[in-house]
Amino acid sequence: MIIHHHMYEIISARDDHPSLLSDCDCACSASHIPTTTAVPPALRLQQHPWQQTIEMDAQYRVVFVPSVSRIAVISYATAELLKRFAEPVDLDSLGPAERAAALQLYQLRLLLTPESTLPPPPPPTELIAWLHVTNACNLRCTYCYIHQTDDAMDSVTARSAIDAIFRTAQRHGYQQVALKYAGGEASLSLERVTEIHQYAQNDARASGVSLRGVLLSNGVALRQKALERIHSLGLGLMISLDGPAAVQDWQRPHPGGYGSFAAVRASILRARALGIPLTVSVTVTGTSIAALPELVSWLLQHTIHFTLNFYRECDTCAGVAELRLDAARMIAGMRAAYRTIEAHLPRYSLLGCLLDRTNPGAPHRRTCAVGENYLVINHNGSVARCQMTIDQPVTSIWEPDPLTSIRQDTGPAQNLPVEEKYGCRDCVWQYWCSGGCAVATFRATERYDVQSPNCTIYQALLPDVIRLEGLRLLHRHRKT
Ligand code: SF4
Ligand code: SF4
Repeated sequence: MIIHHHMYEIISARDDHPSLLSDCDCACSASHIPTTTAVPPALRLQQHPWQQTIEMDAQYRVVFVPSVSRIAVISYATAELLKRFAEPVDLDSLGPAERAAALQLYQLRLLLTPESTLPPPPPPTELIAWLHVTNACNLRCTYCYIHQTDDAMDSVTARSAIDAIFRTAQRHGYQQVALKYAGGEASLSLERVTEIHQYAQNDARASGVSLRGVLLSNGVALRQKALERIHSLGLGLMISLDGPAAVQDWQRPHPGGYGSFAAVRASILRARALGIPLTVSVTVTGTSIAALPELVSWLLQHTIHFTLNFYRECDTCAGVAELRLDAARMIAGMRAAYRTIEAHLPRYSLLGCLLDRTNPGAPHRRTCAVGENYLVINHNGSVARCQMTIDQPVTSIWEPDPLTSIRQDTGPAQNLPVEEKYGCRDCVWQYWCSGGCAVATFRATERYDVQSPNCTIYQALLPDVIRLEGLRLLHRHRKT
């Protein structure tokens, strides 16, 4: 937290952004928080034309520049000071307290030098790989896009995959590798995951590239011993849970039709008790939205990190009308969930967790890592651009440079930078949203170069997400 001169209060998060570490089943890159040098190169500063404020109470408001700045809570006096920067102001014309506050606003990118054109967010520094360790699953979720079989990744393929990933990381200059053990249900192949991750740890040591790993699971078969293994391997865990019993049991049933809620809930609590870094990934659908406040309340009460992700239609689930997202219902339902959060504000930031693939905590040019720094490796060693196009591989781990083939491929899941999407390129939210999932946009429009079909929802709710962050910052500030 930053608190400045008594009159010019400026409250912002410095490094309490665990949301940046949260995992979902998409390829969210490690994010960059913009940094600005402590002293501007010129002595004149000015507001950004996109600057916005949201009133919180008589004393405080949230201020931000969409796509550009950090989010800060400022006092009334600071807001008045900020107004003076509608035109460029010479810092030498300010008193010491005003000048100090102005410099702090500059560091948060709430004030800029008049000449500055901000560069777009830098490229990611992490190579992400989805390892499809098994094609088998013990659930039959309503929106699953995998054509399940009993096939699993064998040992030779697994080792070759890890070698290919580290070879690629070194060749392309990535300092970190993130492995997502997935499927199917990855916990059904926990022996293989153990072997692969230990092998990866050796490759990481030998190559000097750092490594993080997460197991993506439906949570139904994570008994104590399995969780202890995951913990001892140093893996993070992402468990999917879509709602209270009625929702979860309908959306994510066993093959026999019976529900998964009780088992998943128990696994989550066991993982939490063991101290495994845990994220609950919630898929929000037309059916689950009504019960979202109840689920969110439960997660917050147990201090469990979560991400709220929107349902994406696939070939196998296109006929399930109940899953479809209606914008008005989604906006109302998400706001109801946000009201629950307002009543149980967490210590940690939820930026990046509350609105599908948007992230107002970290500017990004692309919605996800697809086509840039992401390899989706299936159980046979074929490599695809995205897990939702895993049946349409582009290359394989036996090619010398699979990442270049992925980048050059012009097939499905073209994840364009936001500046190349009509509708997005002039949008103030562009680097906090990036235009949504490429696969979902193509399904809705048969184009990649346009904004997301969820654009209305994003534009309506981004200010709510930012206001919640402001309330959280203020709450923390008042408690300290
Ligand atoms: S999808 Fe909509 S909100 Fe997102 S960047 Fe594009 S125009 Fe802006
Ligand atoms: S293209 Fe869509 S489904 Fe694929 S990783 Fe990106 S956000 Fe997820």
